[in-house]
Amino acid sequence: MNYSRLADIQRDLATGSVKCTDLVDFYLSQIESQKALNLFVEVYAEEAKKQAHLVDQKIASGTAGKLAGMVLGIKDVICYQNHGLTASSQILKGFDSQFTATALARLLAEDVIIIGRQSCDEFAMGSSNENSCYGPARNPVDPNRVPGGSSGASAAAVAANMCLASLGSDTGGSVRQPASFCGVIGLKPTYGRISRWGLIAYGSSFDQIGPITRSSEDAALLLQLMAGADDRDNTSSHQAVGNYPEELTRKGPYKIAYIKEALDSPGLDPEVRSAMLNSIEQLKAAGHEVAEVNFPLLDYLVPCYYILTTAEASSNLSRFDGVHYGYRSEGAKDLNEVYTMSRSEGFGAEVKRRIILGTFVLSAGHYDAYYTRAMKVRRLIRDATRKLLADWDMLLTPTAPTTAFPIGEKQDDPIAMYLSDIYTVHANLAGCPAISIPVAHHPNGLPIGLQLMASDFAEGKLLAIAQEFTK
Ligand code: GLN
Repeated sequence: MNYSRLADIQRDLATGSVKCTDLVDFYLSQIESQKALNLFVEVYAEEAKKQAHLVDQKIASGTAGKLAGMVLGIKDVICYQNHGLTASSQILKGFDSQFTATALARLLAEDVIIIGRQSCDEFAMGSSNENSCYGPARNPVDPNRVPGGSSGASAAAVAANMCLASLGSDTGGSVRQPASFCGVIGLKPTYGRISRWGLIAYGSSFDQIGPITRSSEDAALLLQLMAGADDRDNTSSHQAVGNYPEELTRKGPYKIAYIKEALDSPGLDPEVRSAMLNSIEQLKAAGHEVAEVNFPLLDYLVPCYYILTTAEASSNLSRFDGVHYGYRSEGAKDLNEVYTMSRSEGFGAEVKRRIILGTFVLSAGHYDAYYTRAMKVRRLIRDATRKLLADWDMLLTPTAPTTAFPIGEKQDDPIAMYLSDIYTVHANLAGCPAISIPVAHHPNGLPIGLQLMASDFAEGKLLAIAQEFTK
């Protein structure tokens, strides 16, 4: 079995040549035989089989939902009622979700089958999936390399055919960069397009849930079903949800600008650069108008992102205190020690680094110099991006400056790790949607992703181009 799109599965379900129970058995065997990749925190084997049985019955009686036949994995930051949830952190060991995230509930209502919960960087902080309390997840294309992060295992599981699709979360690239490293499609919707209710908060003004898929059709369908206003998240948008599956077939032609500074960036692998130039030629040949634009703020993206997200994270993570949720230190002798020891023992090194950094930039003496200033820079970035997107349908960059790097390579160099987000944090700072499309392979055999950004709520255009590249 090697399905890349739900429509093919549903065609076979309709003729009876395959059943949901077969699909679940297949994906479970894939998970089992590739266990060494270390992607799943928990596999819901029995539950998935039961659900498959139920969906098969619904298909027989003509009452099945739109996602009948889709087997989905979820990143360990998305609440699923009565299922474990840890953000791949010791501090949440033993915690069970009390409710289901809105995005996930909407998919469950359409008969999606959840196969399990996937590892990630702790609290979604990282670009390699090495910061997980379950150990590093591995890239199926080359197990000595990282799958990217923070939704690394979710992208790897889709690439390794352990599920048809996954839900990740993207604060600064966590859906797109792993998609690029593993050779699949990753979409970060417009901020507010999908409810954040039930997503563990990292940087609340940046976070979005996004689909990771093998086809643009599945990305379009998942987005359509998850998107839309939610009373439980007052940052969720009331803007009408597009008919993304229909928009896939729109041919444009579109006006696409590639960012000169991104392609001239010194950290960019020359092979990735030439893959981008090839893709640009392909787009031109397909009739799109493609030209170069300047975005002189490129070098400010990563510093601005890391000031603002660490500030938001330090505030969001204050709730994990050894009292409210999960882990509490055994050794604590008084209340103060409950806090300090639980947090010292429960959080990993990267999360501590960010809490400390974020607390610093928000502290009374430094607030204006760092936080307020970074907020102003964010506004400049957003305005400059919108100005470009007023003239162009889409902005093109690589998704990441390199292909997947070896496990351990950047572990001791946080700045090098942060720079792998140089192109992806842009969309989260601006709030606009962005997609990573697998367009080429490096001579080293690893996949290369192309990133496109569009105006707020123009996900349909991103998906239409993804369709052209991947159909
Ligand atoms: N790698 C980025 C970070 O570490 C992005 C993470 C994310 O999008 N969750 O913050």
